[in-house]
Amino acid sequence: MLNPAFKKTLHPIIRKESSIEVIHNGQMIELDDLDGNLSKLLHLLDGTSSMEEIAKELNISVLELGDVIEALDDLGIVEDIVIPTTYSSTQIERYQSNFNYFSSYASMNNSKYSMQEKLNQSKVAVLGLGGGSLTVSFLAGLGIGEIVGVDYDTIERSNLNRQFLYNEDDIGRLKSKVADEKTRKINSDIKVKMYNREIKKYEDLLDIIEGCHAVISMMDQPNIIVDRWVNAACFTLGIPFYLGGFNAHKIRWDRTIPTCNEPCLDCKFIELIQMEPDSIIRLKTNYGRTFTGVNTGFAPNLAILTGLFTSDVTKLITGISPLMKPIISIDTTTMEISQDNIKTTKKPYCPTCSSDFKEMASLEELISIAIDHNEGVLT
Ligand SMILES: [Zn+2]
Repeated sequence: MLNPAFKKTLHPIIRKESSIEVIHNGQMIELDDLDGNLSKLLHLLDGTSSMEEIAKELNISVLELGDVIEALDDLGIVEDIVIPTTYSSTQIERYQSNFNYFSSYASMNNSKYSMQEKLNQSKVAVLGLGGGSLTVSFLAGLGIGEIVGVDYDTIERSNLNRQFLYNEDDIGRLKSKVADEKTRKINSDIKVKMYNREIKKYEDLLDIIEGCHAVISMMDQPNIIVDRWVNAACFTLGIPFYLGGFNAHKIRWDRTIPTCNEPCLDCKFIELIQMEPDSIIRLKTNYGRTFTGVNTGFAPNLAILTGLFTSDVTKLITGISPLMKPIISIDTTTMEISQDNIKTTKKPYCPTCSSDFKEMASLEELISIAIDHNEGVLT
């Protein structure tokens, strides 16, 4: 063990008459310290002294000290703070708050720097640089090593109530171009590639998202089919993906991990059609439509959705804590959040995820498949 340190975020050390009080991740831990040796040890554990030096100072053996450190590590209050040589001083400064955040998950064997390094070595795609532009700025701040994005729209004044990567000087310019410039200005250490492309089929996404650890889609049009394109592309390449959106009263989000044998979006549509025959007319009416002038984009709701996406992507990449449940919705009136597990089952006859996928089925084909495999229930 090298350079063990009592976590900086847990300071100051509160010493009571014969014990030490530590508040770690919202929990209070009370440690006996009759002789004051533990207090002395915690002060010595500032990461500058070796085990031998500390043991000598406390007049105990290195072996005994090792046992104490191990016990403190089990409580989650010490960490290894050897800074990897790969970090420059400006990077240490840039990610200081990230390191402090990751410190609460760190231990002697899993340093806060290694967690940040995982982000620095990852690649994430953001599809749609309207609401997605905020997501891009979050990812750049987090230090995601490579961010790719796509859009074909230009910036309008009506975007400026929520798309804070852009400002008045950018009106009329391509979102992909401005997002590229601004993201590099947030973090010049990362790679950025923004595509100016209108997505018209799932194949248009493949080269953009290839090699990504996660895909976040904020594309909302053409209605429904755009999510099916993302679904087909991510299942083809086996990339975890997030779909989300909101209206005035509800924020909704879901995550699918193709490599975990989860049902795909088309499985969900098949089940919807089988369970609710009325949904067919709803799907047919909305499918492929584009809407203008009815966007309920409200900055606080977009920020919450963006926070959920990027928080979960951080967990997905670093493994610091369990992922959120795959379906999340928030009632924006009460701010009540509900998390749910996937209830849909994977359909062995799904044309997208359960067979040798080549071409995306049309909505009509999907409806036929749902009906054919639901004999006796639908008429
Ligand atoms: Zn499927």
